Amino acid sequence: MSVDASLRARAAKVIPGGMYGHLNAVLHGDRYPQFFVRAEGARQWDADGREYVDLMCSWGPMIVGHREPRVEAAAAAQQASGDCLNGPGPVMVELAELLVDLIPSADWAMFSKNGTDATTQALMVARAATGRTKVLVAHGAYHGADPWCTPGLSGVTPNQRADTVEFTYNDLASAEAAAAEADGDVAAILVTPFKHDSFEDQEPADAEFARGVRALADRLGAALVIDDVRAGWRLDLRGSWEPLGVRPDLTAWSKAMANGFPIAALTGADALRGAAQSLYSTGSFWFSATAMAAAKATIEILRESDGPGLMHRAGTRLREGLAAQAAAHGFVVRQTGPVQVPWLSFEGDDTLEKGIHWAGACLEEGVYLHPWHNWFLSAAHTDEEIDRALQGTDAAFAKLRAAYGAD
Ligand code: PMP
Repeated sequence: MSVDASLRARAAKVIPGGMYGHLNAVLHGDRYPQFFVRAEGARQWDADGREYVDLMCSWGPMIVGHREPRVEAAAAAQQASGDCLNGPGPVMVELAELLVDLIPSADWAMFSKNGTDATTQALMVARAATGRTKVLVAHGAYHGADPWCTPGLSGVTPNQRADTVEFTYNDLASAEAAAAEADGDVAAILVTPFKHDSFEDQEPADAEFARGVRALADRLGAALVIDDVRAGWRLDLRGSWEPLGVRPDLTAWSKAMANGFPIAALTGADALRGAAQSLYSTGSFWFSATAMAAAKATIEILRESDGPGLMHRAGTRLREGLAAQAAAHGFVVRQTGPVQVPWLSFEGDDTLEKGIHWAGACLEEGVYLHPWHNWFLSAAHTDEEIDRALQGTDAAFAKLRAAYGAD
């Protein structure tokens, strides 16, 4: 029995279902290992010692390379002098100053742990500011796992879902209709910077849609909230809609902010400072200094080295390589999303059967990517790492062709 199988058998006895949530390998396909023991740079090793080029980056958090020395040193130095104390360390102020300096829409920052903390806190600020209840959200968008937003409805009451009204991403008329349905009671419009729903091709935000939801929020007197938890720090360090010239009132950040250390942030505009201050919003571990020190180092590295530019280069190399391989093996594929947050699907593969087969073959060839969730690149994905990944994907296309034939 493999180490992974034996851990799964033990887990089944002491952990509900053996595992839960987004890292539950059962959801990812037959061949996915559940347990991992080590990571370095752009590589991870599973519990059976198999090595992978990591194209999932722990589902987003890793961004400058697993165990990046400067981030590890900053975290270790803070940890050595104190982490979870009776109050935050000076690093909390330094980190907030860094965010306010870097992000044009940010006049202040609040910190928490997970992306769901930040999106939930954003809605609290918007509601405190407006005295209103409803939030407009895109159908199918993921904003976290609290009752108001979890995609699974088990354990959730209808009341907990009653305050969101859905619209269709990139369809301004549907956002206007959702606002009309909420009948003046709109506290916020919550939107991801591009459409990155699972099981589907990704879609860039239409500039007209982005400007339109900004104008709609202004007309309604509601807050425009960007959920940059997934895309944040990979596309543009100033915020993912900054290139479109659309500035949010509030932005939720997490995932890659500290290269794997647990932290989230909500940043916002001056007009919402008073509302933010009015909340009672806190957590036992929210002010731990180690993750803040790691975040500061991570963001400084990304800023000094043009992290998004490095990831763009790596992502372009990967996308071009995959396109050439797919064509050479006779497959028609679609590659969607920004190159730093890529995904590949096969033409006509509505059930994702081919995608699952190909991703499983990639695993066998030492490349960890995903059949129904977008992937993530990092600044540690050098040309050599991308080329190593492409060796594996090429062999996986050959296996897919042997199983299914060319398109
Ligand atoms: N928003 C988005 C866009 C996300 O991708 C995620 C996490 N996948 C979240 C919110 C929730 O973050 P967390 O899992 O850290 O609570």
